[in-house]
Amino acid sequence: MTAASPVLVFLDPAHPEGRIADAGQPQLMATDLGATRGDGVFESLLAVDGRPRKLQAHLDRLARSAATMELDIPPAADWRAAIATAVAAHPAAEELVIKLLVTRGVEGAGRPTCWVSAALPGPAGRVQRENGIDVLLLDRGYDSTIAERAPWLLMGAKTLSYAVNMAALRYAHEHGADDVIFLSSDGKVLEGPTSTVLLAHIEDGVKRLITPQLDTGILPGTTQGALFAAARNAGWELGYGPLEPEDLLDADAVWLVSSIRLLARVNHIDGKPIGKDPALAQELTRELAAMLAEEDGI
Ligand code: PLP
Repeated sequence: MTAASPVLVFLDPAHPEGRIADAGQPQLMATDLGATRGDGVFESLLAVDGRPRKLQAHLDRLARSAATMELDIPPAADWRAAIATAVAAHPAAEELVIKLLVTRGVEGAGRPTCWVSAALPGPAGRVQRENGIDVLLLDRGYDSTIAERAPWLLMGAKTLSYAVNMAALRYAHEHGADDVIFLSSDGKVLEGPTSTVLLAHIEDGVKRLITPQLDTGILPGTTQGALFAAARNAGWELGYGPLEPEDLLDADAVWLVSSIRLLARVNHIDGKPIGKDPALAQELTRELAAMLAEEDGI
């Protein structure tokens, strides 16, 4: 195995610590419903110096996503064991991307296929963390009340069906931007294809950190959750949408936050610069990045 190969560990009742599999060999049946229908759920998290970050929050969200789609998955202890095996089997690295994957399993088997992968992150995330990003506002194609009306759309679950999210990113790249903020058809700010939107407003020395409200059907972000807890302890006020594009354009700073890239400052939205005072936006970015760096790895 070369240093760059991902490590795969399948959850397998015959192997309580997980079964290591060769990422260079076929490992899934062609009839697995994950492959044939994109039917499954996943998580992506970061391990720093071998320590998975916010692990319980990711395991909790995996369990919630699975329950939303009536998937019966192994208990958290089995995932923790497989993650430990994967991290130990990967050559040491400052950062590793850990993925937890569940599919509905091979057609007819009635048992999910579950595995963990550990791999080095791509270079783009680190560059974007340091330099910030330009984003486009794109229509997500449904309104902000859909989650309540249509539970079968699995809003708020982290399903394997990310083809639309990836297509939106490709559209952004083809149009000179790095990333996307989705809007609902009634004009509310939702989320990025792989991230949560945060914005800051500073008024009379009071710092307010704001994110769209969850009942729009967005994914509850573990990074947003961790940052909100840390910011509250540091004296920030917290707020939840509804947010519209004007709120982003008026903000002192806007970020897309997620577990792997962490905090990426938004420099432009649809070509318009964000934040009247670049030095202030820079300072706020540093402050929030320091909070994320300190966040406990358990
Ligand atoms: N929203 C979506 C659609 C995502 O895919 C992700 C992460 O991949 C997030 C938000 C951010 O979630 P987290 O901070 O837990 O990584």
